[in-house]
Amino acid sequence: MTGMGVTGMAVDKDLAETLTGWRRHLHAHPEVSCQERETAAFVCARLTELGLPFVSDIGGHGVVATIRRGASNRSVGLRADMDALPILETTGAVHASTRHGVMHACGHDGHTASLLGAAVLMRDTSWSGTVQLVFQPAEEGGGGAKAMIADGLFERFPMERIYGYHNWPGLDAGTVAVHVGPVMAAGARIAIHVRGHAGHAALPHLSRDPMLASAHLLVALQSIVSRNVDPLDCAVVSICTMEAGTAPNQIPQDTVMRGTMRTLRTATRDAVEDGIRRVAAGIAQTFGMQIEVDIIHGMSVTANTPEDAEIASAAAAGAGLTVRRDLPPAMTGEDFSWFLQQRPGAFVWIGNGPADGGRELHNPNYDFTDAILPLAATYMASVAKRALGS
Ligand SMILES: [Zn+2]
Ligand SMILES: [Zn+2]
Repeated sequence: MTGMGVTGMAVDKDLAETLTGWRRHLHAHPEVSCQERETAAFVCARLTELGLPFVSDIGGHGVVATIRRGASNRSVGLRADMDALPILETTGAVHASTRHGVMHACGHDGHTASLLGAAVLMRDTSWSGTVQLVFQPAEEGGGGAKAMIADGLFERFPMERIYGYHNWPGLDAGTVAVHVGPVMAAGARIAIHVRGHAGHAALPHLSRDPMLASAHLLVALQSIVSRNVDPLDCAVVSICTMEAGTAPNQIPQDTVMRGTMRTLRTATRDAVEDGIRRVAAGIAQTFGMQIEVDIIHGMSVTANTPEDAEIASAAAAGAGLTVRRDLPPAMTGEDFSWFLQQRPGAFVWIGNGPADGGRELHNPNYDFTDAILPLAATYMASVAKRALGS
């Protein structure tokens, strides 16, 4: 049976119902990063039903299934992430989380269900080659992609290219957004320790006040993006926590500020990092402080090659999906960037529909739009086949 999908594309009604059931089961049983034991078991059970060989426990709870067809020795990878977040769900949906304080607030339940859907759609024999289905754990800051790579992902499961997607609230449901170059930002954590000299609040001349120095530093750091980065480039420096002081009549010994930086280009990342260190050194000199700057690099820039952007775009259009090529990148980060450091590929956004009412990523009222499951599955199957030249 077929019905009309949200973009007007004909979709298999049975597949839509099956994927919705799978997605809602995953949504009701979320597991946070590095603890995706039941989620991985669910994936393995579905792969077993589909008769697909798979290997589990890769880089933690990662699973890779392999589909082979025809005589072609070419191979590509498709990836979905599986983890949830430590967020208390407020949707009130019938399939809402049954685990207090854990929630699929980023739609990885939908990503996993739709990659299983791609496996269903790839049972046909219209293509030739090998497709590796990569079910990744710990995307939300748990280093799952790196762990899978360290566990030999690309050696054990050869793939020339790799593709993935993220659902995108605010983009029309089922519309595929394709970028050439940066899609999502590189991120780094910043920690700045300002060490002064504690003393009586009424005798400031006998102390060195790290609070005053930190206040100046906080303001001065905001000059880096506004004065050192090309206005047509993108960068973010956000200081988000400040710990200092215990008594209202003591100038404290030290302060700690923590935050994040995001950039879309390596040169900009290096310039912003240099700027933070330079400004901190200047404030240390000015106020007679010792200032220590720690910058820990996390995810790299998620960037599509022009060739893979074309493959993704043509696959989506060929599958009857609406394609947008005009969206700017987002300054959020994506663990998929580690895979793109190893292999060329493309990461696209698939519209999740309106973001109103809190249906934004990482919001307690967010939910994945089930209607896009068969469309996402179709896109994933199509991009694999096109990349294989089928
Ligand atoms: Zn997320
Ligand atoms: Zn996510």
